[in-house]
Amino acid sequence: MSSARDLLSSVFGFGDFRPGQEEIVAAVARGENTLAIMPTGGGKSLCFQLPALVRAGVTVVISPLIALMRDQVRGLQAAGVAAGALTSGNTDEETDAVWRGLDDGSLKLLYMAPERLGSSGTEQMLNRANVSLIAVDEAHCVSQWGHDFRPDYLRIGALRAALDVPLAAFTATADAETREEIIARLFGGIEPRVFLGGFDRPNLHLAFGAKNGPRRQILDFAAARKGQSGIVYCASRAKTETLAAALRDAKHNACHYHGGMEAGPRRAVEERFAREDGLVVCATVAFGMGVDKPDIRWVAHADLPKSIESYYQEIGRAGRDGAPAETLTLYGPDDIRLRRTQIDEGLAPDARKGADHGRLNALLGLAEALGCRRQRLLAYFGETADPCGNCDLCETPPEIFDGTEAVRKALSAVLRTEENFGAGHLIDILLGNATDKVTARHHDALPTFGVGKEFNKREWQAVFRQMMGRDLVRPVAERHGALAMTEAARPILRGEAGIELRRDVIAAAARENRPAV
Ligand code: ADP
Ligand code: ZN
Repeated sequence: MSSARDLLSSVFGFGDFRPGQEEIVAAVARGENTLAIMPTGGGKSLCFQLPALVRAGVTVVISPLIALMRDQVRGLQAAGVAAGALTSGNTDEETDAVWRGLDDGSLKLLYMAPERLGSSGTEQMLNRANVSLIAVDEAHCVSQWGHDFRPDYLRIGALRAALDVPLAAFTATADAETREEIIARLFGGIEPRVFLGGFDRPNLHLAFGAKNGPRRQILDFAAARKGQSGIVYCASRAKTETLAAALRDAKHNACHYHGGMEAGPRRAVEERFAREDGLVVCATVAFGMGVDKPDIRWVAHADLPKSIESYYQEIGRAGRDGAPAETLTLYGPDDIRLRRTQIDEGLAPDARKGADHGRLNALLGLAEALGCRRQRLLAYFGETADPCGNCDLCETPPEIFDGTEAVRKALSAVLRTEENFGAGHLIDILLGNATDKVTARHHDALPTFGVGKEFNKREWQAVFRQMMGRDLVRPVAERHGALAMTEAARPILRGEAGIELRRDVIAAAARENRPAV
């Protein structure tokens, strides 16, 4: 049978669990009675859909919202999962298919509105079927005092008792009274295991940095933490080896780890890391699943991770003991190009590619954030929070300016060259550099030629990077990184919307002797 993690990617198309999901999935799959309180948008459905696939038999999902049920069933079926619903909106064919799937034991998820529980036919059917789990979505509907009370939810307790199977309840309503009521009414005296949100890891210091001589940046970061255990995540196997060598040259105790290594040497690194103090492991994402070391003091990303979920999971390996731990994530235009290309050239269906671009955008938005990073990170997972005081942006609020004019000029250069060129050439046009490439294509005759002299080359690079980070322009994979304008940029181009940019990023780029990549 496939592991939960294999199913996570093969069926659901996610690279990583979101905060909380992994623990909940494991508990539910093991057949523990569970109550999980997760913020809306936190990814509750996965926490019963995935265990349903791991467990034998069928999982009955009680949900109050027919539209939502039908939506989930459609999504599951599209992913090749045998799922069905019994709702008032069913066609006869749909209902027949559900009955057949129950009879021959192929159905894995059966969605039902609570009203269905009232009929004796339903009860008989569920008694006959091999039900292995009951999942209750929006479990607070069982609370008589809440405003979402659904009387039929009160029947769930009896169903659980009759079938004598584990029950997993989910809700976003976290107050203690509702919780008690859910436990009393659904679990009938059994104390479920309770998972209560709180995804924040306040002891982790969050910081991002634009790549600017990335190897030196990583070496500097490690040098300031010499003798502490840390992980450097790299996008390629080769980089784990060269970075580990560079760290050893700088007298760190360092080694590399990636999926291309034999099992033996991999295990050796895992064991050394667990045992030794102050080992630095340069690794691909292959490192981490088995890593359960409480006192990892820092995690650095030498390259941009692939999503916020991966980011959170990777930095989350630091500071499990609750003591302060540091993180640094480096990113640059090459990362953005690499991740976009990976998505575009992947085998996923178009709808999923769109979602993956959206997820990448969320991470880039975090990288280019204008305010507290933790606030933004938690908001992505559905939690609200005050500015944290423990991130780079809380410590040094970014300097912001109205970048509308600069962005409009850059977009105009993109469009007037028909989205066929990368940032380097576009910047030459904006600066009025009559390079061979510019004159050969008569781009010195464009109205955009030389309109951007208020910035130098590095400053423009920083503007373009922020534009890529905000998904105003996207590299086109099949045109070697030529930039195309996205729909998000149109209101700015039309003068219907403005945009703020970070001046500190631009100023830092201008000060540096190295190129601002
Ligand atoms: P809710 O908790 O509000 O029921 P959903 O289960 O509908 O949330 O999930 C919210 C969104 O999060 C969905 O778009 C879903 O595809 C996405 N999601 C859930 N789990 C993950 C994951 N591990 N990685 C990426 N996206 C996820
Ligand atoms: Zn903060």
